[in-house]
Amino acid sequence: SDHGLISQRSPESPAAMDWPQHYPAFATQPGSEPDNQAKNPKTITQQVEIADIGCGFGGLLFALAPKLPTTLILGLEIRSSVTEFVQQKALALRSQNASSGLYNNVSCIRANTMKFLPNFFSKAQLSKIFLCFPDPHFKARKHKQRIVSTSLNSEYAFVMRPGGKVYTITDVEDLHLWMVEHFEAHPSFERVVGEEVEGDVCVETMRTETEEGKKVERNSGMKFVAVFRRLEDPSWP
Ligand code: SAM
Repeated sequence: SDHGLISQRSPESPAAMDWPQHYPAFATQPGSEPDNQAKNPKTITQQVEIADIGCGFGGLLFALAPKLPTTLILGLEIRSSVTEFVQQKALALRSQNASSGLYNNVSCIRANTMKFLPNFFSKAQLSKIFLCFPDPHFKARKHKQRIVSTSLNSEYAFVMRPGGKVYTITDVEDLHLWMVEHFEAHPSFERVVGEEVEGDVCVETMRTETEEGKKVERNSGMKFVAVFRRLEDPSWP
């Protein structure tokens, strides 16, 4: 049911998404692009580029938003009440920061990302996907519920542009190894290592600003990070 601030239903396609409802500061002005307006009145001046899958209470979203103020960032979360919390927090931060315009670039939708990801994003739309502390589903018979798998990785590959990056972090070593194994085995991804990972502000933010990252820090636990690059599709002669 639609009891939230923002319609919670999944769209039939990315074009059916009401993006201005999420990013009103980026809505196209009426009359500014007549052709576009005629076809679809629900347009924004740029597309969402960063997705946080299973964003929880949005710690990463609200840390990244002011660091990347001209990039549209979206959290996807399966729990309605948590989604509404993130939407409310975005509205509150926008009004507290009205003079600077910060936080206009961040929002959240309720979604089961194991089912509907290509309904929200079109091919090659995203430059970054975050998978932070996904539920580990420890038992072997539950592994099919993990948000990294051969088929889900193909969906991530579809919505990502070549050169884009998938960021993963977990405190569960077995899940870390699982994610590395599945992304490395996928023809659309290669692992990124070394300075390119350690020097990446997104990696630092993911370690320190996610709710789970903070919890692991308090318990002096380990955090396993891996980053993967979306490769160019092979060109056929
Ligand atoms: N990423 C946050 C962090 O690092 O603090 C939250 C991590 S929490 C352990 C996992 C989150 O993923 C929960 O908020 C859960 O509701 C959400 N989740 C689980 N399955 C999901 C799915 N299929 N689609 C969207 N969100 C999902």
